[in-house]
Amino acid sequence: MEPILTWYREHRRDLPWRATSPWGVLVSEFMLQQTPVHRVLPQWQRWLELWPTPADLAAASLSDALREWGRLGYPRRAKRLYECAQVIVAEHGGAVPRSIEQLRKLPGIGEYTAAAISAFAFHQSEVVLDINIRRLYARCWAGVSEPKGSPNNSERMLARALIPVGDDGTWAAATMELGALICKARKPLCDQCPLSEICLWRATDYPLTSDEQRKVAKWHGSDRQCRGVIMHALRESELVSNAKLAALWSDSSQYEKAIASLLDDGLIEKRGKSYSLAR
Ligand code: SF4
Repeated sequence: MEPILTWYREHRRDLPWRATSPWGVLVSEFMLQQTPVHRVLPQWQRWLELWPTPADLAAASLSDALREWGRLGYPRRAKRLYECAQVIVAEHGGAVPRSIEQLRKLPGIGEYTAAAISAFAFHQSEVVLDINIRRLYARCWAGVSEPKGSPNNSERMLARALIPVGDDGTWAAATMELGALICKARKPLCDQCPLSEICLWRATDYPLTSDEQRKVAKWHGSDRQCRGVIMHALRESELVSNAKLAALWSDSSQYEKAIASLLDDGLIEKRGKSYSLAR
């Protein structure tokens, strides 16, 4: 698959986590789950300045981590990352472990993230299946517009078979970049794609699957938006009264539900009649 590697050498973005420590890679992988690159960039830089090693983050407070997560969304990831730093310090002498098995045991690290850290931080040849890579494979080799559900065994086998001999993790980075920049979910740039001559989906005139009908989750007025409003207010002040927080959201039952779920997730604390970020 030399055309993909050649394309990558010529077009790759200069992303700072491609030339950083294993810890920097790990932090980037947490942040990039569900958040686009342009929003992660400033936050990642800030985190690495504040906490250049797992020990630095482990010595901070959870509320600092939640506050510095800013508006990246899905703040459970900040809590998991904080817990991850603590386990790395307690069980791995402060160094991100190299083996997939050990990585998988860390808080917040699943199959994809462990493989990505192994490939990008330790240059191992791994089957890395993020959504960009899966979409590229689905289109080019399976002739469908989108992958379905979670990765299955046949998808993993295809992915394993495509990795070039002697790969040092570059294949994962190259296919991820090609999926993100060229084989985009909407409006793929097929005329710039190194796979345009062999792409099955293109050759069959882009048949649509039912996945195309999928609706993007509604954000405005959602529970997630309500949680985000509360978290934002608590990042701005040490302590905010329940009355003041409740005034930020018109639907009181949705507000109560959001407060309960944030308490349940261990992201906020009740202090008298007020709330703060979890400490
Ligand atoms: S030819 Fe188009 S659809 Fe096929 S892999 Fe390339 S960008 Fe994606």
